[in-house]
Amino acid sequence: MIERNPSDPHAAVSYAEAVETVAAYSSTLSPPASMQSVSLLEALHRVLAQPLLADRDQPPFPRATRDGYACQAGDLAAEAPLQVIGTLRAGEAWSGAPLEAGQTVEIMTGAPLPPGADCVVMVEHVELTSYGFRLLAGRRVRVGDNYNPPGSEARAGELLIASGTRLTPSHLAASAAMGAATLSVYRRPRVAILSTGDELVPLDATPLPFQIRNSNTYSLAAQVLALGAEPVLLPIAGDTESALEEALSLARQEKPDLLLLSGGVSMGKFDLVEPVLAAHGARFFFTGVRIQPGKPLVFGELPAAEGEPLPLFGLPGNPLSTMVTFALFVAPGLAALAGEPGFAPRFAQATLGAPISRKPALRRFLPAVLAGSADTVTATPVAWQGSGDLAAAAKANCFLVVPEAAADGEQALSPGNTVGVLLA
Ligand code: AMP
Ligand code: MG
Repeated sequence: MIERNPSDPHAAVSYAEAVETVAAYSSTLSPPASMQSVSLLEALHRVLAQPLLADRDQPPFPRATRDGYACQAGDLAAEAPLQVIGTLRAGEAWSGAPLEAGQTVEIMTGAPLPPGADCVVMVEHVELTSYGFRLLAGRRVRVGDNYNPPGSEARAGELLIASGTRLTPSHLAASAAMGAATLSVYRRPRVAILSTGDELVPLDATPLPFQIRNSNTYSLAAQVLALGAEPVLLPIAGDTESALEEALSLARQEKPDLLLLSGGVSMGKFDLVEPVLAAHGARFFFTGVRIQPGKPLVFGELPAAEGEPLPLFGLPGNPLSTMVTFALFVAPGLAALAGEPGFAPRFAQATLGAPISRKPALRRFLPAVLAGSADTVTATPVAWQGSGDLAAAAKANCFLVVPEAAADGEQALSPGNTVGVLLA
């Protein structure tokens, strides 16, 4: 693990070093020891704790994938039309004798192929005669076409969903198909959220003209919920040592698996989060990252009160900084605590919609709008007044990634360039 440089402890690390540090630390975190059995729908966004295996071959029978005619492909070369001897609906098994040469059964999508058939001809590709059907000119059908043999998707006992997988709607569908009405998932990690700042007031208070409402607690709690974890909302702490001390002990009483603080990590006279954590014996892995927004991000751990040390992030208080640093650095750590190893933030590529400048030695994440069609996706930065601009954040749906400028100075990126976006 990268420890911070003892000769220059306040030096900010690069974006890549910070990613690496969090990934290395996260790989040492073990998932919660306890598991829970929850109903299928409750398992959405949770992390699977026991592998899900196929309970039988998939499909369990040779399943027609088209509406049409089940027959022997070899018969189709002959000039004579095939004789239709019956109809098979989905959910019904063929009760007659195996198909003989020249015979066909009308079949619906999802029905089991009758014995003796080796293909399905799509209904769109035939011409009906008074006797049966003939393949339309130019159409060819081969053995195996338009049905899936038993076990071709998965064999009975085969792994379908590995433990450590975060469950999405398609995982729930696969589980339902296997008859799993409940799933075994890891306990949700508890995440204590502590916003700090003398200027902050809670939502139910009327702010004085120079006060602002605490919004970070809610963005962080929402991000925690989106990762299937449990947010524990603590009262706002003021910018004094005693207030922070008290808040820390309150936080620890909640027995969280992760502690998130917001605010108080910059260079201001009343930014006391780091010294108070240090006084409590915290180790810091980095205390700054060369990104914008989010440069003062602190990552470390508090020594164990009992059991494991408590990982913590001191997030910069500016609302966009808080959100970006969560998405980039907290999410992988929290995912590891939730039992999902190797989580990485989701990035995509898009075409830049407006010019942007690059800054030396600083990677930037600008609020942007990702829009377009399946063919062209454009990312356009929204106008913003800096990392406190929540109105801009509310218009954005992603963060555009602006790489560090090359050593020889600032270079602009032009519309039409390919850029990365963080899908947060
Ligand atoms: P700080 O990181 O404490 O220096 O705060 C940076 C900026 O973010 C200041 O303008 C704060 O008022 C603002 N800020 C800090 N914490 C919050 C919060 N919980 N909700 C909204 N804004 C905040
Ligand atoms: Mg502050």
